[in-house]
Amino acid sequence: MNGAVAQAPAAELVEVSRLYPGDVRALDEVGFRIDRGELLGIVGPSGSGKSTLLNLLGMLDVPSSGSVRIAGYDIADLDDDGTSALRARAVGFVFQQFHLALNVTALDNVADGLLYTGMPLRHRRERARTALVRVGVGDRLHHRPHQLSGGQKQRVAIARAIVGDPSLILADEPTGALDSASGEAVVELLRELNAAGATVVIITHDMELADQLPRRIRVRDGRIVADERSARGSPPADPRSEGPVPAGGARDAGNGGHHALG
Ligand code: ADP
Ligand code: MG
Repeated sequence: MNGAVAQAPAAELVEVSRLYPGDVRALDEVGFRIDRGELLGIVGPSGSGKSTLLNLLGMLDVPSSGSVRIAGYDIADLDDDGTSALRARAVGFVFQQFHLALNVTALDNVADGLLYTGMPLRHRRERARTALVRVGVGDRLHHRPHQLSGGQKQRVAIARAIVGDPSLILADEPTGALDSASGEAVVELLRELNAAGATVVIITHDMELADQLPRRIRVRDGRIVADERSARGSPPADPRSEGPVPAGGARDAGNGGHHALG
């Protein structure tokens, strides 16, 4: 890999449109760039084009026109094998409905995320175990999905997404099937993965969630209507802390070392 590609943005879209049969313009000349290490939300109402955008970022789809660059590679220049190899190595997906194999243990659901490497099963399981411990379900290695709560299933799915150490994590409504407490813990986990270096894109129609992210790309009818960055990238003040946050910034005082991820 040459230096230019190694330093390239995580993703860059230029004048991207995606048309579906019946003259549906799911995306209409969309352009933006995602730098390495960013944490951002793609927000918008149902049908606005969010999943279409995520599929392009994840190289599961190609644009009808315009260019998509992922990690410096223009996907139009890659053949199917090249796209599959880049996707397997560089991208981890997290879905609303988890997409775990039903009759397979958590350990092997995650180990299967490394099938593309050709690594022996024993090594894949070692890596899977490490990933499951990292996301907080190291005590559920041999459980099958039906023996896990929604929040635990999503942690297993995140472990599978990160087991190959991808630079880009794409999460499509990752909290959509969870109660609010498990949803918040999943967002906190995604934040931690971002703090550890991954670029993380969270698709959501949850405005409260989106407002906690340092950048939000707002989509409507296939177009970007806003691309906002703010200092609101920190979690809301702990509701247990007393009174307003004092001016002068002792923000963390009284926070009691609280971490959402148990
Ligand atoms: P969102 O994820 O924001 O709900 P989508 O990206 O799934 O939106 O869809 C954007 C638009 O494209 C919608 O009008 C949807 O009906 C349409 N669409 C999505 N996938 C297809 C498809 N495979 N064939 C035809 N239309 C599609
Ligand atoms: Mg969608």
